[in-house]
Amino acid sequence: MSKISCPICEKDDMVQKVTAIVQGETNSTSGYSSSSGYSSISGDHISASGYSSGYTRMSATQSSRLAQQLHAPMRPSAPEKPDVQRSIFDLTGIFVLAVVITVVLVYMFMRDMYNYFLFWGRCCVTFLLSGIGLMIVTTPSLNRKRAEAEKRYEDDIDLYNRLTDIWRQEMINWNKLYYCRRDDVVYNPSDSAQPVEPARMRDIL
Ligand SMILES: [Zn+2]
Repeated sequence: MSKISCPICEKDDMVQKVTAIVQGETNSTSGYSSSSGYSSISGDHISASGYSSGYTRMSATQSSRLAQQLHAPMRPSAPEKPDVQRSIFDLTGIFVLAVVITVVLVYMFMRDMYNYFLFWGRCCVTFLLSGIGLMIVTTPSLNRKRAEAEKRYEDDIDLYNRLTDIWRQEMINWNKLYYCRRDDVVYNPSDSAQPVEPARMRDIL
């Protein structure tokens, strides 16, 4: 019984490294003879050449379904840094409010002004000042939203880091897995856990 023998049939003639099965699926020219693409992740990568001679090629459909089930654990995706700005909705609100304030002020204080340029000049200034004022007044609320988003982002980063650590360990374990075609089981020769069917590979990662 060799080091990688199947724990069920105790033979290695139908045994293949899981990385090689998945690699074979994604690389149509070289078949499944090489698993070197994954070797950098695992420290104790075992070369595929040592045991591949007795292996019989599987049909393409069998292989693709199996390769899907045996696929490497997905790397968690990094959260995006939040960029909280005033929405177009907020800006529209501020614009409308500034117009309303300007109309009200003009109506209250300047309706008797007959100098055309002075009238419109003051309208513009009033509008600009109300707009700027509203921007200043709503800044604390914007900052609050930014702080909340920042906090959520930090939580997401923590979670992402934890998941990435788990993923790294899963990748190391995944690189050690073998598949026995006779018994249709996946197992880790360096681990005493029970072999599982390919669909349940995650259980032994
Ligand atoms: Zn077996």
